[in-house]
Amino acid sequence: MKKKFSLLIVAVVFGFLSLVGGALAQTVTYHPSLAHKNGALAYEHMKYLANEIGSRVAGSENEEKAAQYIKDQFEQMGLETEVQEFSYTRRGSTYDSSNIIAYKPGKSSKQIIVGAHYDSVSVGKGIDDNASGVGVMLEVAEVLKKIKTPYSIVYIAFGAEEVGLTGSEYYAENMSEEDIESTVGMINLDSLAVGDKMYVYGGEGEDGFIRDQALEIAEKKKLDVGTNPGLNPEYPEGTTGEWSDHAPFKGIGIPYGYLEATNWEIGDQDGYTQTEKHGGVWHTENDTIEFIEEEYPGRIEEHLSTFSTLLTDLLKSRSL
Ligand SMILES: [Zn+2]
Repeated sequence: MKKKFSLLIVAVVFGFLSLVGGALAQTVTYHPSLAHKNGALAYEHMKYLANEIGSRVAGSENEEKAAQYIKDQFEQMGLETEVQEFSYTRRGSTYDSSNIIAYKPGKSSKQIIVGAHYDSVSVGKGIDDNASGVGVMLEVAEVLKKIKTPYSIVYIAFGAEEVGLTGSEYYAENMSEEDIESTVGMINLDSLAVGDKMYVYGGEGEDGFIRDQALEIAEKKKLDVGTNPGLNPEYPEGTTGEWSDHAPFKGIGIPYGYLEATNWEIGDQDGYTQTEKHGGVWHTENDTIEFIEEEYPGRIEEHLSTFSTLLTDLLKSRSL
C-alpha cells in the first residue's frame, strides 16, 4: 500500500515535471519561424554548442557540458537515450569521455547508425568541425521522431574524435556480432558548414550504396551535392580517407556514407583544403560563427539546409 502510494506521488510529480519540461523544450525547439525552414534548428544547436559552451576539447569540462546538452535534446524528443562512458590514455594521462546514443525504432529491426563527433580542438570554437554535424543530426532526429522510417536509427554523438577517433573506435569495438549483422550502414557527419562544395562519400563497389542513393536523392531534389571527383589517385572517385568516425565501422565491415563540405579540386587535392578563399577554417582560430558568416555569407545556412534535407530523405528511403 505504502509503495503504491509513493509510486502515485512519483507519477504525479513526474507528470508535472514532464509537462514543464515539455513546455520548456517547445520554446527551444518549436519556434514557429524555425519549424518551416530546414537547417534552422541545426543552426540553433550549432550556435549553442559553439557560443554558449565554446571549444570542446576531449576530456574537458566543456566536452562534458556538450555531452549533457546533446543528451537533453535527445531525451526531450522522447528517444531512448544512453551514455556510453569510456576512458583513454594520452601522453601518460587518463581522460574520460562518452558517446551519447539515442534509439529510434523503425519498421525493421535492421538499423542504420548516424554519427557526428561533438568534441573539438582547442583553437576556435569548433563550428564547422563539428558543431555543424551535431546540429544536423539533432535536427534530423527531431524531424523524424514521429515518422515511421524503414530502418531503426541509432544516433551517436561521439566523444574524443580529435584525439584519434577514440569514441567511434570504442563504440565499434564493443558491437556484438549480432549488432554488426543487423547494421545496414553508418552515416558520418563531419565538417558540414564551410567547405566550398558539398559532398557525400561511400565505400568502393557495392559498399558505396549509401553514397549512390544520396546522389540520386540530390539529383531529384536539385540539391547541390556531389562526390569526390577522384583527381587524387590515393582517394578514388566517390571515396574518402580514413580520418573520421566512419573508419572504425568500415574496419568491421559496415558500409559507410559520409557527408562533408570541402574542396577536392584545390591544394594537394586530398580534401584538406576546404576553400579557395583562406584555405578554410579547420583546426584554426577562424572556426567561429563570426568569421564564417563574415567571410562566407549565407554559406552555413545553405549547407545546413541542404545536408538536413538530404539526410532526412536518405533515412526515409526504402531502397537503402
Ligand atoms: Zn571533425
